[in-house]
Amino acid sequence: GARENTQKHIAVFAFPFTTHAAPLLALVQKLSESAADSKFHFFNTAQSNESLFSKDHDCERVKPWSVDTGLPKGYKSTKGPSNEPLEYFLKATPGNFETAVAETGLPFDGIISDAFLWFAKEMAEEMRVPWIPYFTAGPRALLVHVVADDLRARLGMNGPKDQTLEFLPGFSAIRAVDIPEGIISGSFDSPFQMMMCKMGQMLPHASAVAINSFEEIDPIVVKTLKSRISNLLNIGPFVLRTPSTSDSDIHGCLDWLDQHMRSSVAYISFGSSATPSPNELKALAEGLEASKFPFLWSFKGNAQEMLPRGFLKRTKNRGMIVPWAPQLIVLGHPSVGVFVTHCGWNSVSESIIGGVPMICRPFFAEQKLNQKTVEAVWGFGVGVEGGMFTKNGTIKALQVILSSEEGKLMKEKIGILQELAFNALDTDGSSTVNFNSLVDLVSRC
Ligand code: UDP
Repeated sequence: GARENTQKHIAVFAFPFTTHAAPLLALVQKLSESAADSKFHFFNTAQSNESLFSKDHDCERVKPWSVDTGLPKGYKSTKGPSNEPLEYFLKATPGNFETAVAETGLPFDGIISDAFLWFAKEMAEEMRVPWIPYFTAGPRALLVHVVADDLRARLGMNGPKDQTLEFLPGFSAIRAVDIPEGIISGSFDSPFQMMMCKMGQMLPHASAVAINSFEEIDPIVVKTLKSRISNLLNIGPFVLRTPSTSDSDIHGCLDWLDQHMRSSVAYISFGSSATPSPNELKALAEGLEASKFPFLWSFKGNAQEMLPRGFLKRTKNRGMIVPWAPQLIVLGHPSVGVFVTHCGWNSVSESIIGGVPMICRPFFAEQKLNQKTVEAVWGFGVGVEGGMFTKNGTIKALQVILSSEEGKLMKEKIGILQELAFNALDTDGSSTVNFNSLVDLVSRC
């Protein structure tokens, strides 16, 4: 924007589902400290904003602003996981964001958006300002969306699940079945898949694309990505830059971990929205119990009701179940030896930061791709046998990582990437350099 006034306004569009809005806000907070002339409006649903912004948040630099959820009046959420809120929200876009932007009465000088919200590109064009999307997952997930048309042309739709993607550099171990649904399998016409498809087409036309990853994590893939997206800024793992509010340890996980031996504990969490079926929960619990390894489980819901009868009592001396754990710190604790995870990108990054090998049970989106990368490309994790928890599969996976030579090797391998992650964030590290470019770009909006 070519206005005389030095005060700039940047609109930020958040995606209010799974763990997307929190990393975006962390980025914006950090930007607001560095791009001192810029003021940010954080457009997000009221509910998500409420959970992100503390009551005493100073709105001077980053101001939360509500966007309509699109839910019908009086809508009552169903019990358990449901796609309905997402679908209503997507139906309401981009109108809900346009309305919210108009409400501020401000002219904006730039838009930073969750990469999913591709329509921000068109809004930015209309306003004649830069669009800077933030992709909150990893480089492989980004690449498969950007080259989605090529993948479809090569592999067709719903072809053999086991064919590998040799033609894509760095993907020879990845199979068709590992690619997120909606690209070469499943349905394309759901509002979510259509959004992802548009995102893949729009991102190469952004002023810059920021990604919560670092260049050294997957150099071949990052190189291919850069040939498609000229201004790709790997600025992560961003969590290392911003202590998060969810880090407080109200349930005493760290004290509990202090009482255990080095690399002996299994930490279990499936992120903000994935939940294994009752049968799998039961199998996982049985496996944990029979394996005799200590465990710390971040558990959504009522553990007493959902886990096998007597399980809590029988395992109380070596198991701890909490509704929420300070995950980043937990994974950095020396007692934790393995992370049983759904392979959400934040979880995978935090496991790398902690140097903890993984047992992977992916559910949706790019989680399977993350698993395959952990397992077959980086070699510091295993999938559960058959893709679902069984008692024996759980025991086996725990033993491999916690008490075998192979597990020791995995620990060494993840240690190498852990070091690279920290290096990337050093004063002259790649992610720091990229973050400074991003600050420049925002300052020049
Ligand atoms: N998380 C946490 N404590 C918990 C469970 C999860 O702090 O008990 C955090 C975790 O550190 C991560 C995020 O929630 O940053 C989960 O993000 P991820 O991308 O792994 O999964 P999603 O929630 O998007 O499925």
